[in-house]
Amino acid sequence: MSPVVLITGCSSGVGLATAVRAAQAGHTTVATLRDEDRAGPLRQAAAAAGVKLEVRRLDVTDEASIDACLTGVLEAHGRLDALVNNAGQANTFACVETAGTARFRAGLEVNLFGVVAATRAALPHLRASRGRVVTVGSTRGLIGQPFNEAYSAAKFAVEGFLESLAPVAASQGVRVVLVEPGPVLGTAFGANSGVTRESLLAEAGPYAEVLADYLDWVARGGHPGAQSAAEVAEVLLRALTDDAPPFRIMTSAWGERYARTKLADPGGAAVTAMTRSWLAPRTLLLHPGVVRRSIELVTAIREDQWERPTPCAEWTVADLVT
Ligand code: NAD
Repeated sequence: MSPVVLITGCSSGVGLATAVRAAQAGHTTVATLRDEDRAGPLRQAAAAAGVKLEVRRLDVTDEASIDACLTGVLEAHGRLDALVNNAGQANTFACVETAGTARFRAGLEVNLFGVVAATRAALPHLRASRGRVVTVGSTRGLIGQPFNEAYSAAKFAVEGFLESLAPVAASQGVRVVLVEPGPVLGTAFGANSGVTRESLLAEAGPYAEVLADYLDWVARGGHPGAQSAAEVAEVLLRALTDDAPPFRIMTSAWGERYARTKLADPGGAAVTAMTRSWLAPRTLLLHPGVVRRSIELVTAIREDQWERPTPCAEWTVADLVT
């Protein structure tokens, strides 16, 4: 019997790619979307790949829709072997002072409480199957990034939630895995965010100038370690299928090095300097020693910024974690 996997947020990007990839790998794949009217690209991708998907509605902010979806899956298949918490939103790209707490709450609803609610609802079924919860985190859940205050707050919270849950779930035979992409290009993350450069600058008040610098940097292609959704989907498939994946899997060698900067400097000065350096050199008003150290780190991280990641097929889990 093929494993039954339920994936959230499959209308685009990583969720869509993972649904198709999981189906190709032989999983019974339940690809869920908040709005079934937006299933066109998903169905087209499945048809192009020659695979069958089961498309169901699931809004991670609506517990009744999560329960209804799971009831349908259990009725149809009698089991659930894996939940992939992928749904997420980027409309939290904001400054706390000017965007207001409502934006933060809206982001946390999807990016944190959506993960909590779906995981909670799936756990009884995963206990029965000795299954797994695989969640899409982000390097921004490990290291903050300018103007990502709300997004990082949610993704950091997901880290704490799952890191704490993992040993408890393991006591019941359920494996918890966090997959951490850096930037993923070619998804609908920006388009789905509902904000534009103009709208962000208009609300940024005293931060407008430095935000403009940052957005210019992003527009120039400031995406160190960028990957495609397909590359991330390949790592997610490994997280679903490997016998003993680690709790945390960085999706690229860049992400691995990036995450290590935090542990290499628990005081946080180098990380602060590095993230501030993304705004503009003029904002680096820090001690010269810290600046020098951060420049060394940034240089090391960016040296291979356009290097394509090692093809995932050649990776072993040990490669991902050592
Ligand atoms: P995307 O916008 O293409 O995909 C996100 C999906 O989540 C969309 O299909 C969207 O409709 C869905 N979604 C949003 N709110 C929902 C809700 N309430 N209920 C159900 N579905 C909902 O973007 P993506 O880049 O494919 O993002 C997928 C995951 O990867 C997210 O968790 C995101 O935080 C994470 N991520 C993205 C990046 C990046 O640079 N794009 C980097 C690291 C991590």
